[in-house]
Amino acid sequence: MQTFDHFIGGEFSAPDSGRYLDNVEPATGADYSRVAAGNAADVGRAVAAARAAFPAWSRTAAAERSRLLNAIAQLVEDDLEAFARAESTDNGKPIALARSVDIPRAVANLRFFASAVTHFGSEAHVTDHQALNYTLRRPRGVVGLISPWNLPLYLLTWKIAPALAVGNTAVAKPSELTPATATMLARACVGAGLPPGVLNIVHGLGAETGGPLTEHPDVRTISFTGGTVTGRHIARVTAPAFKKVALEMGGKNPNVIFADADLDRAIGESVRGAFTNQGQICLCGSRILVERPLYDEFLERFVAAANALEPGDPLEESTAQGAVVSSAHRDKILGYIDLAREEGGRILAGGGPPDGLPERCRDGFFVRPTVIAGLAMDCRVNREEIFGPVATVSPFDGEEEAVRLANASRYGLAATIWTRDVGRAHRVADRIDCGTVWVNCWLLRDLRVPFGGMKESGIGREGGNEALRFFTEAKNVCVRVPDADAPEDTR
Ligand code: NAD
Repeated sequence: MQTFDHFIGGEFSAPDSGRYLDNVEPATGADYSRVAAGNAADVGRAVAAARAAFPAWSRTAAAERSRLLNAIAQLVEDDLEAFARAESTDNGKPIALARSVDIPRAVANLRFFASAVTHFGSEAHVTDHQALNYTLRRPRGVVGLISPWNLPLYLLTWKIAPALAVGNTAVAKPSELTPATATMLARACVGAGLPPGVLNIVHGLGAETGGPLTEHPDVRTISFTGGTVTGRHIARVTAPAFKKVALEMGGKNPNVIFADADLDRAIGESVRGAFTNQGQICLCGSRILVERPLYDEFLERFVAAANALEPGDPLEESTAQGAVVSSAHRDKILGYIDLAREEGGRILAGGGPPDGLPERCRDGFFVRPTVIAGLAMDCRVNREEIFGPVATVSPFDGEEEAVRLANASRYGLAATIWTRDVGRAHRVADRIDCGTVWVNCWLLRDLRVPFGGMKESGIGREGGNEALRFFTEAKNVCVRVPDADAPEDTR
């Protein structure tokens, strides 16, 4: 059985408590490895290692930091197949998805920020003829990076790469449900020659490991991606210490299809947008709103497409729907499907576990892609994040109602709009309260654009210069420029 230990000061080490958590393969429901159950003592060691590494790393030339990040990226890419297999086994996602999206994107994150830091500039402001201001951007020190289980390596590198690129040292805390690829990344860091202590990884439960990390007095910067309940807790405990915090949290994203949309594309992408990664992507479009003239046809074809998506063994090449991450998460998703029935919804596709899974997967955690119609927008199923392969479909009449229903959420992460009317696309994009709007596409990503949420989906932005700015502290230096004509003693 594999063991995933902490990575502290450039070495793998056992947890202070000697305790390990069982780590389950979601596709089989069986323990396949164990992961260190970290505690405050482990976090303390990791923070001390990061502190010790900070002075040298922060003074290392940007070109050298860039070279090391590129070297790590190369080692991950060289081992792509093993990383993809580990991610699929650990998370339940189809191996084809891990191979084509998760791992390539992790490599891209490392390379993107390796390059970005060599282009990162700071501002200068000339104040009339009296002064020159220039802005220093200094790394903030030891940063805490907390990430979820749905895109394990992809989201971990999305934080590690910018944090390290600008000269911080880091303590990363991956999800206790998906520790495998973080451990493989640590090995790549050793292989690339990253100095010990620049990146440290502590495993363990949120409250026992993430808690001490967010509360540690030497960690003054926290970048968190995960659920809104956890994010609210982190905001509460870090606020009195005035820490700099970025929170990327949940979503309940509207996917708005106007009657003039390219229906074939809208259906294909809506299926992808609802069910990719078993619906476990914060950006999934789980509230589908369809303009009434198109409603019946859309629903019929969308249901047929959902029914055609049969879950299977994630390690099989042809599988497009894998397992959800845990038995608790499966039960939560099934609970919401029961709630939808109670709230008057009609389950038109899915609605429970699949039949006909291969023998190996009989005790795994699977839910069929589920489509629900007939629910009011203010019911719980339409308000709360389910984070599984469950989409609701509701009709609307006209632009005004589309905007009202799209905004009828306490979340504000992302939205998708389908229309051929350019003017309407811009108008509606402007009026939906969220951090990202896709028009006639979904999850088309450019790593330079600001990424994040409004309302209860988050504060702060990641991506491109936003991330480089977040992980640095701006300091303005104002230098008076004396007037050459002034008498010597007043200059
Ligand atoms: P979660 O909040 O349960 O856990 C996220 C991370 O926080 C884990 O590493 C966990 O161990 C840690 N954690 C838990 N309690 C903690 C505490 N008290 N202090 C510090 N750390 C703690 O979320 P999850 O179930 O792993 O992930 C699913 C959620 O993540 C969904 O809500 C999803 O929408 C969200 N998500 C958001 C984005 C985004 O970019 N906005 C991206 C992916 C996932």
